Amino acid sequence: MRKIYFDHSATTPVDPQVVEAMVSFMSEKFGNASSIHSFGREAKVALEDARESIADFCGAHANEIYFTSGGTEADNMAILGVARQLGEQEKHIITSKIEHHAVLHTCEYLEKQGFDVTYLKPDKFGEIHADKIAEAIRDDTILITIMHANNEVGTINSIENIGEIAREQGVLFHIDAVQTFGKLPINLSNLNVDLLSMSGHKIYGPKGVGALYVRKGVKLQQIAFGGAHERNKRPGTENVPGIIGLAKAVEVCKNSMAEEEKRIGNLRDLLFQKLIKKIPQVYLNGHPDHRLAGLLNLSFQSIEGEALLLSLDLKGVAGSSGSACTSGSVDSSHVLSAMGVKPELAQSSIRFSLGRNNTIEDVEYTAEILPEIVERLRQMSPL
Ligand code: PLP
Repeated sequence: MRKIYFDHSATTPVDPQVVEAMVSFMSEKFGNASSIHSFGREAKVALEDARESIADFCGAHANEIYFTSGGTEADNMAILGVARQLGEQEKHIITSKIEHHAVLHTCEYLEKQGFDVTYLKPDKFGEIHADKIAEAIRDDTILITIMHANNEVGTINSIENIGEIAREQGVLFHIDAVQTFGKLPINLSNLNVDLLSMSGHKIYGPKGVGALYVRKGVKLQQIAFGGAHERNKRPGTENVPGIIGLAKAVEVCKNSMAEEEKRIGNLRDLLFQKLIKKIPQVYLNGHPDHRLAGLLNLSFQSIEGEALLLSLDLKGVAGSSGSACTSGSVDSSHVLSAMGVKPELAQSSIRFSLGRNNTIEDVEYTAEILPEIVERLRQMSPL
């Protein structure tokens, strides 16, 4: 059976060039980067080269990049690090209702520790506007943490505008760029961003590795203890093969970013055009233009997203649904709910996220099988 992967926002296959770059760091060049002998020095040199090349890609300095175990840890390090550094008296943080749980759950934890968190509502397209942030800033605001692009609907926020407001008001600005780093150009030398989280496995790199950018001069309390690694900010033996893979993944993205985004965007648009032509009552979730190239989040009236996903999977097509079935009831996506999508449409949504290995044949096959599946499920639907 044909197998089609349309779930690149969840994770991506590791690029063969990345695998090749990593392999020797798991075998002959296995040294611990903290050791002073030649094995260690070899690992350390490679680690610092990787740091340099990632920094170079985003207009940062190498000493502003701290390697982590991925986007979740980078988000935690940024938010908890700032909260503990500055939160003695001033305890207000601004975020949005549509962040990833790596941000939301960290903010919820801080609320239990006495912090006050404003969760901004996005507009109906999933965008967080800078003027809403300006209105929410208070004298005791210490951090604004907003995602660059949303992982469920793909809407891209204007980090330029938000950054300007943050800088004017003297508030630190963190962006969760897990879905954009390596896909959209980011030049930190002319953006008012103080902290940025990124992750390897969304960009054809390995899982379990990522990085936090911390602008020079921004102070963070460390959140874990046990060693002086990563200049005392993130203890633990560095994942050298992972970091080498991360740097290679970024390099591969850099060399093909502009053409790839165009190609994937065209495939995504073709899929959308074909589906709306053949299937009635299909609705796009997310911004019609200002969104990630690979992302197509659709609601199919009168169908459970999970049922549609399972039927697609049986035909070899892997997508994902924002809703999750827990204890017999279906929980809608927190993102779609915050955007004001009606619960029945939120529950009928599925996300196709296209990527590097997808072809026009994948789009045609999916557009061929989906109308029949939708019709069959609608006939059976009590909705
Ligand atoms: N932030 C966003 C927007 C994400 O999409 C994800 C992963 O889905 C994360 C954070 C977490 O990243 P990681 O899987 O590397 O921990």
